[in-house]
Amino acid sequence: MNIHEYQAKQVLKGFGAPVAAGVAITSADEAEAAARQLPGPLYVVKSQIHAGGRGKGKFKELGPDAKGGVRLAFSIEDVVKNAREMLGNTLVTAQTGPAGKQVNRLYIEDGADIDRELYCSLLVDRSTGRVSFVVSTEGGMDIEAVAHDTPEKIVTIDIDPEAGVTPANVDEINTAYGLTGEAAEDGKSLFPILYKAFIDTDMSMLEVNPLIVMENGRLRVLDAKVSFDGNALFRHEDMKALRDETEEDAKEIEASEWDLAYVALDGNIGCMVNGAGLAMATMDIIKLYGKEPANFCDVGGGASKEKVAAAFKIITADPAVQGILVNIFGGIMRCDVIAEGVVAAVKEVGLKVPLVVRLEGTNVEQGKRILNESGLAITAADDLDDAAQKIVAAVG
Ligand code: ADP
Ligand code: MG
Repeated sequence: MNIHEYQAKQVLKGFGAPVAAGVAITSADEAEAAARQLPGPLYVVKSQIHAGGRGKGKFKELGPDAKGGVRLAFSIEDVVKNAREMLGNTLVTAQTGPAGKQVNRLYIEDGADIDRELYCSLLVDRSTGRVSFVVSTEGGMDIEAVAHDTPEKIVTIDIDPEAGVTPANVDEINTAYGLTGEAAEDGKSLFPILYKAFIDTDMSMLEVNPLIVMENGRLRVLDAKVSFDGNALFRHEDMKALRDETEEDAKEIEASEWDLAYVALDGNIGCMVNGAGLAMATMDIIKLYGKEPANFCDVGGGASKEKVAAAFKIITADPAVQGILVNIFGGIMRCDVIAEGVVAAVKEVGLKVPLVVRLEGTNVEQGKRILNESGLAITAADDLDDAAQKIVAAVG
């Protein structure tokens, strides 16, 4: 689960991290009162969307010469003017895709005098099985280019889970940044704080880009991006409350309500599968025969007929889907239940695109009989290869 920058800063502030004062608003009428709460004379008006790259982003409605999604403002009037221009418009960034995201919320923040912009993130490093700090002196808006062109400028420091962030780790991070004096002192408290916030709230990613050294020599978290581990949210009601469903794919939300693993993709073949391995194999083989999956929906083991029907409806609701491949290996999941769910869903929502079904495993004969006797236009397939070729041919 992702949250907005202003929320992430609130969470980090709760752990004692230095963040700027700021006020989130959802209408331009609130802009003036928000700015009056800040010291000035420099303000920053920041689009709150669940995507990075806002500074370099462009508003669709405003043309190529307009300023981006993070704007400096030099007076309260300037804050109001920018807020009016930005709210309600669509921001396209390197991370939103070409459709962009509508900006419904702004964060009006105290402007900082920046000396240096650093990069700092914490993530779960699968190769070491530990949480790692990933740090670079090249913070700001182009970290992807740094990773690509000058990877030696990115330093990874893994943290022993038993010891936590040790003074030696802090030294390593401070050295990697070249921090001295007060900034290095700030690092001694900040890096353990970031780690504690990460662990205590079960984050899966925390990215501070930029972490800045201000002209007064102090550190400040200037941008913050947080993802929480969805599997641990049950023990963080306070974090769960930060969810903004308007930022998420509507079909993914519906799927999560049914406890289905649904992932939206860019192609045009919808896939209903059971098990992550079979999902990967199904997508691979669709690609092998020259098409792309539009999504996959993993119904898991032991799903009910209702859950299968919900999965099928979610898949067909995507207008990009031009054909559906149901590929189930019934182990715990029974093929007859899958067949009943598919038939029930098709009867309810209709079937406007070709449907290829490959069933194998528990109660497969019963499942096939249910499909055959349903009177629906379903193409049966014998195996994975046959199924993929049939759906690719049907979509054309
Ligand atoms: P994004 O990463 O989505 O582009 P950031 O929050 O990192 O958004 O902002 C982009 C840039 O804007 C930063 O790298 C920084 O230079 C500047 N900036 C952001 N917030 C402030 C602030 N409070 N004061 C001064 N400059 C800021
Ligand atoms: Mg940033």
